[in-house]
Amino acid sequence: MEAAVFYGIGDLRIEERPLPDIAERQVLVKVAACGICGTDRHIFHGEFDANPPVIIGHEYAGEVVQVGKNVHEYAVGDHIAIDPNMACGICRPCRRGQVHLCESLSAVGVNYDGGFAEYSAVPVSQCFSLPQRVSLLEGALTEPLACCLRGIEQAQIKPGDIVAVIGGGAIGQILAQLARMSGAGKLILSDPIPERRAMALQLGYVDAVVDPTNEDPLKTTGALCGGADIVLEAVGSVHTTQQAVAWAAPGATIVWFGVTPPGQLTALEPNLVFRRELTIRGARINPFTHSRAVALLASGRLNLEPLITRRISLTELPAILQAPPGRDTKTVVIP
Ligand SMILES: [Zn+2]
Ligand SMILES: [Zn+2]
Repeated sequence: MEAAVFYGIGDLRIEERPLPDIAERQVLVKVAACGICGTDRHIFHGEFDANPPVIIGHEYAGEVVQVGKNVHEYAVGDHIAIDPNMACGICRPCRRGQVHLCESLSAVGVNYDGGFAEYSAVPVSQCFSLPQRVSLLEGALTEPLACCLRGIEQAQIKPGDIVAVIGGGAIGQILAQLARMSGAGKLILSDPIPERRAMALQLGYVDAVVDPTNEDPLKTTGALCGGADIVLEAVGSVHTTQQAVAWAAPGATIVWFGVTPPGQLTALEPNLVFRRELTIRGARINPFTHSRAVALLASGRLNLEPLITRRISLTELPAILQAPPGRDTKTVVIP
């Protein structure tokens, strides 16, 4: 089979590999689609630790083509989405039920072979059944959706809240859809790329969009007059973490969802946090949110397929990871 194997910084090779052997509690999945995530880019550039040589790719869905001899939960022909994240179960956070904060967290597509390949051997514990009516393409978005559900949990939106989403990439668009579903009274999305703003307006879940390079939503558009009750930062830059605080209304909750590079610092005025009694929260991966992500996909109430703006083959992947992120909302590899 063809697979994208990461050997070290800047070294991703498309190779012919033997079909993986499956253990007795694993299934063999024929990968239908595997999304490219910021983490894959970070791994490629040496900004996120992986275990090379390893097949990367952790946002994927596919069809079961073989089951291990001790697998009773899944059968050949089943459609499944993968939860790549694995907790150790014995560290302090794990034993307190905070598996996403596990001290030895590992992941399929980072530490173990993942989804940028034609086939993938996956432990039963990481498989989630997808109903046939959910396309496998949309199914590849289960993992980012599950992570966004954690972000929404952390935001604690109340019906009627004014919500601002900073960033209109796939994560920002998913967060916006979930914020609308959670009862946002007024929802604005900010992104400098016109196609992303247009997408949010066209798909119909936001009330207004902002081009942050030209407009200050607190002044010019009036869209955020008085600030937002909830600000969801989905970019991961120092500038936008500060913008998120600036756009917060008194009493607001800010979720810094975007991943900034380790070691970078942001300036924050503690007096402002005091005066406005602001809450700033993080949101990390998908603690127990994967089954809800599948249920939401099955409900048909989200519209995620339009977020996939580009489909590529495995051979195109190294060049895509090498280049800076483009204007596409979500690029998916079809092995
Ligand atoms: Zn990811
Ligand atoms: Zn642990």
